[in-house]
Parts: sequence; C-alpha cells; structure tokens
Amino acid sequence: MRLTGKRRIAVAAAGAVAAIAATVQFSPGAFGTESSESTAPETAAAPANEPSGQADSGVSTTDGTVFDNGVMSLGTAPAHTRAAVAAAPQGEGWKLANGMAKSLPTGYTIKFYDQQSVDWLGRYVKASAADLKRITNLPISVDTTPVGWNYSRPKGEIVIGVLKRPCVPPADNGQTGWKIVRDGSGTPNLSCGLISSSVPGTVTSGHAYIDSEFFTKDGKPAPSWGETFMRNHISHELGHTMGLTHADRSATRGDCATGTDSGEKPVMCTANHGYQDGRVGTYIQQFDAQGLRYLAAGAGVAVPPQGKVTGLGGKCLDIKGGKAVNGTQIQLYTCNGSVAQSWILGKDGTFRALGKCLDNARNASTDGNKIELFDCNGGASQRWSVNAKGQIVHVASGKVLDVTGGSTANGTKVQLHAANTYKRQLWTAPK
Ligand SMILES: [Zn+2]
Repeated sequence: MRLTGKRRIAVAAAGAVAAIAATVQFSPGAFGTESSESTAPETAAAPANEPSGQADSGVSTTDGTVFDNGVMSLGTAPAHTRAAVAAAPQGEGWKLANGMAKSLPTGYTIKFYDQQSVDWLGRYVKASAADLKRITNLPISVDTTPVGWNYSRPKGEIVIGVLKRPCVPPADNGQTGWKIVRDGSGTPNLSCGLISSSVPGTVTSGHAYIDSEFFTKDGKPAPSWGETFMRNHISHELGHTMGLTHADRSATRGDCATGTDSGEKPVMCTANHGYQDGRVGTYIQQFDAQGLRYLAAGAGVAVPPQGKVTGLGGKCLDIKGGKAVNGTQIQLYTCNGSVAQSWILGKDGTFRALGKCLDNARNASTDGNKIELFDCNGGASQRWSVNAKGQIVHVASGKVLDVTGGSTANGTKVQLHAANTYKRQLWTAPK
C-alpha cells in the first residue's frame, strides 16, 4: 500500500496529464492496490485510473447512443438532471449521480461489446453482477453474447467493453460532453462508466469502457495493478453505470469516509480506494450498497431487509469487537447501532455484516458449535432461515442460534444448539 518514490516519479511522467496530476493531492491510500515491488516501466504506469482529476462518469439523455466513425458523444445532460444538481441523494460514503432517484424495476442485463471484452472482463462482471443482484434484489443478469460496436443499447441494458484509452472527459469537468473513442486517442489510464436517463430520475441504461492499458496482452491484470485493483476497478465502473457517483466528501480526491466496518473506503471513492482484502470486488453494506439500495427502493423493489437482530434481554446479535476477520465470535451485546450489529438478510439465506457472513463453523451440527463471521462462500454453513417462532435456523442441521447458558451478559457467546422452548433461542430479525 506504500506509495513508492518510483510511483511519485511516474505521476510526473504521465505525459499529457502531468500538469494537472501534479497539483492533485494523492494520498497513499489511493494506490493501495499496487504492489510496492512493482516492476512496470514508469511510462506505462499511472497513479490512478482517473489521473487527471476528472470524474469518470456522466449522464446522457438517450439509451441508444451508438458509435459514429468510432466516436460516441454523450451530448448534454437532460434538464431534469441539471435541475436536481444540488439535491443528489447521498449518505455517508455513497452518492447518486445528479438527479437519479431510482433504478428500473425490471432491472438490467449486462452485455459486452466484443469477444475480447467477454474474455477479459467476464469474470469480474459476473462477480459484481451477482453482488448487485443480491444487494438490491433487482433482476440483474449477464449475457456474454457480444453485441458489436454499433449496437444501439436499449433501455434496461448496460454494455461494457475494453478499449485502449477510450474516454475523453469534458473540458468543464462536468457530467456532459464525454466522448468515447475507439482509436486510442483518449486519456491514458482512464476508464469510464456512464449512465443514461431517458426517464426522469431513472437510471435507464449504462455503458462502461475499461482502458486496455490496465491489462497484459493476454488479458490478465497488468502486474503493476494486479488482481485486487482490477476487481475494484470493474466494480467501480459498473457502479457508475448503476447510478452511483464518487463518494468523496470534498474536492480532494480520495477524501472518503473510512468504514468502521472495513477500515476501507467505498468502492466508489475516486481512484479505486476499495477494499484490500477478500471482500474486494464487492459492495460492503456500510457504504456503496446503501446507494444501490436507495435506487432499488425508489423503483419499488423490496430490497433485502437490513438492521439489528435482537434476542435475549433485548440485546443484539453482535460481531465481537466489530472485527471483520474470519472466525470472529458472534455474541450477545447491548444494542448500540453499530455496523457490527447491522445485518442484511439475503434471499440466499445469508445474514451479512461487515461484508462477511454469519457462519456455523465447519458446518458441524454438534450442540455448542461455534457461530462465527466468515467470508461469504455460498456454503451450507451460511444458510439460515427465520421460523415462525423467531428461531434462526441453520438450514442444513435444523439446529438454531442459541445464547449460551441463557445469560444476558454482554459478550455471551452465541452457539448452535438443538431447538427447544427457551427464550434464549428467540430473535427478532429485520423484515
Ligand atoms: Zn469513478
């Protein structure tokens, strides 16, 4: 995560953008995805995907914008987006594109411009799409049949592709006047994700272009960026296509809230600050997910319930120490409104907090088995259901979450136990 001296030189060597980049206050965190042992040639590396300080997102009025002689211009933003500039919904760590208030209730299909885009971006896009779907309950699918570069993108579709230096930001650093080019004459190390809004306040479609310079010739993440960067990068640009804008708190790039859950900044912070651990490429509940949920709720979608889970003595299902670390004990604790007690109940049966999952350790079924936090993995140890009595049932074993010994003391361990009639097994979960 350290900003190396070499990298500082690379900032100044970034060619056309050097004059602007040199005035930007980069924090070391902005480059957290790179290895300090980077061996990339200085001229091939830039400090960020948005080196000029330009936002990498914009809004167009129509869904079907197509290339014309290799150039796509977005034109001006619709009046309804301009009028709402001062009122973009936002919260801690998330912010919507100007004027956007809802998703399409029918959801989105993500497609690719060409086969290379499928090959290089497919797995990242699929991972992000699954997460977007889970967070919002919106229908979101991925179609890997290439649509071609002259595709007229309809409402309800997001199209993504790889191009060399594809994006040319507008001179006014605003949302309008973006150009997408196929001739490689765009801004170095600048990908972009853009939305269309042909219905007032609604994200009707989107498109994203990923700079091929982030990849090797074989379509692998360039060594100077690495896998972590790429996961964050693709999910960041897809976030733009879904209606999120940068979550920065001020004009200083990278000035974003740091999660008390993750110790990390939002995926939608400028310059891909995103997570540096196993959760990378996803949207943690504390930040970006809230903006996505806001948009989906605006469309009338029943978003996954989120909130505290209360049990014995009115106390809360709590992650010990608020640690987003695999194996952390789940316990009973006085409700305090913290993110260590904020659970999202997914349709997939997961209880998620701090970007991880409520987990029955090793999926054992013995009474007293440990209940912990663990990376979400889709396994049977992480599938739960709440029954009519209010017991939280581990589906695979049929056993339930139980407050050990029936003590209401803070820090009492929550364990797996055969169901009985004790209150220690009764919980109230968000609906
Ligand atoms: Zn961006």
